[in-house]
Amino acid sequence: MAGEPQDDCLFCKIVAGHVPATIVRETETTVAFRDINPQAPTHVLIIPRAHHKDAAALAVADPALAADLLREAQAVADEEKLDSYRVVFNTGAGAGQTVFHTHAHVLGGRGLEWPPG
Ligand code: AMP
Ligand code: ZN
Repeated sequence: MAGEPQDDCLFCKIVAGHVPATIVRETETTVAFRDINPQAPTHVLIIPRAHHKDAAALAVADPALAADLLREAQAVADEEKLDSYRVVFNTGAGAGQTVFHTHAHVLGGRGLEWPPG
């Protein structure tokens, strides 16, 4: 069922505390932790505690929770003292999504080229 923890999901395991992560912020509905393979000086992932497969599915199932992720992106940027940052939701394997539990990448602390690759 939408939102329920999935046994085979890495990020559900991080939410449950069964897989360690370097957590930088937590709210009632979200967890933010450092990406294990950072692509910028600040590279934080923000996930909903509830399991949804990607940002689009989350927005349909629970728009308020989708908004929580965006609010948390700014909160992470504030804590990391980032004036500018990029939020990325890779959606679908062809776009590089490898973990099918919604996550916002927050990237900053270096120049960010546009358009991205
Ligand atoms: P994506 O490719 O958009 O699905 O992003 C998944 C991200 O999760 C990648 O940037 C990985 O480096 C990151 N990642 C994978 N395993 C872990 C982990 N155990 N802790 C933190 N980040 C992870
Ligand atoms: Zn999950």
